[in-house]
Amino acid sequence: MGANELARTGVRELPLYAPDGTTCDIDVSDNTNLWGAPPAALRMISSAMGSSVSRYPSVYSEPLRGAILQYVELTDASVVTGCGSDDVLDSTMRAFGDTGNSIAYSVPTFSMIPVLARLNGLALREVPLMPDFDVDAEQLVDCEAKITYLCAPNNPTATSISRSAVEYVVARARGIVMLDEAYAEFAPETFADLVANNDRLIVVRTFSKAFGLAGLRVGYGVGSREIIRLVERARGPYKVSSLAERAVLATLDTTPDGLGWVREHAALAVTNRNRLAAALSTLGLPVLPSAASFVMVPLARAREIGIALREQGVLVRPFTGLPLEIPMLAASNGAALRIGVGPWEMMQGLLDRLAPVL
Ligand code: PMP
Repeated sequence: MGANELARTGVRELPLYAPDGTTCDIDVSDNTNLWGAPPAALRMISSAMGSSVSRYPSVYSEPLRGAILQYVELTDASVVTGCGSDDVLDSTMRAFGDTGNSIAYSVPTFSMIPVLARLNGLALREVPLMPDFDVDAEQLVDCEAKITYLCAPNNPTATSISRSAVEYVVARARGIVMLDEAYAEFAPETFADLVANNDRLIVVRTFSKAFGLAGLRVGYGVGSREIIRLVERARGPYKVSSLAERAVLATLDTTPDGLGWVREHAALAVTNRNRLAAALSTLGLPVLPSAASFVMVPLARAREIGIALREQGVLVRPFTGLPLEIPMLAASNGAALRIGVGPWEMMQGLLDRLAPVL
């Protein structure tokens, strides 16, 4: 038997993640921080050069955990870190999902969820979002899945979910609830407070978006001591490098170059997001209500427009095959563009090149 036959089915059939790697003047395709990284992190990285990288970092990011708890303003909770929040989501699935268990989630949602679920041998239970883009809380709970995944605000739609739907799922789901708040810093509300009353909830966040540190690969989960201890066991030791840990710690400092920078640019992203949505509407395009650092524009010719924009030096992310149960997506035959929000000159450049190709 060759290696291919010996591989686990979930691995053999998995395509490699292949984002469009074209270099473009204006790349708004991956929801990272288009203003760059916080000066406090950059300074820490350059001053840490030559420090002791020959030794292992802290085992479970002990120095970072207290700073994260303070940032999320939770006292009676624990923190697990990971190599990006992808790693925290994966570790949570590994901690609680036995092969053959199911995971329930709304569609469309973060594209890595079915990938990580398959790798963990989980059966997929997909429930379309409601016409108003809220999650169908009853149907999700009725799946009786071992793990339920919620994403607020949701990628790729950028829409938020209602507190009542989140509370319904958290209170009634049979198993573990993973609430992904990768874009919390851009949203009007967060649901992290719910971990205080539910020991089966883990809220997962990242330093890749508002914090501008996607290249360092640091994410985290907050929850009860019990859930976090189990996710940590599944995760394993030494997942966050010492340089990344130091840079994140420097950014969590309440200085103008650290947390001040993060907050200032998150607020700017919200302002520019609303301005971009208004400008897109003026071009006659529908825009889903966004609570994140990107917008989704249903557009039947999304793929074609994506290619035309790329030729003009603008990289956006086209989606096709979105659920037709949602009227706003059915109207564009399930196709849409996802556009990241950045400095206004960048947004203006995008708008200038978009108008002629429409
Ligand atoms: N969750 C959501 C909803 C995302 O959009 C992303 C990034 N695309 C992630 C998690 C993963 O981010 P990271 O692994 O960089 O923390």
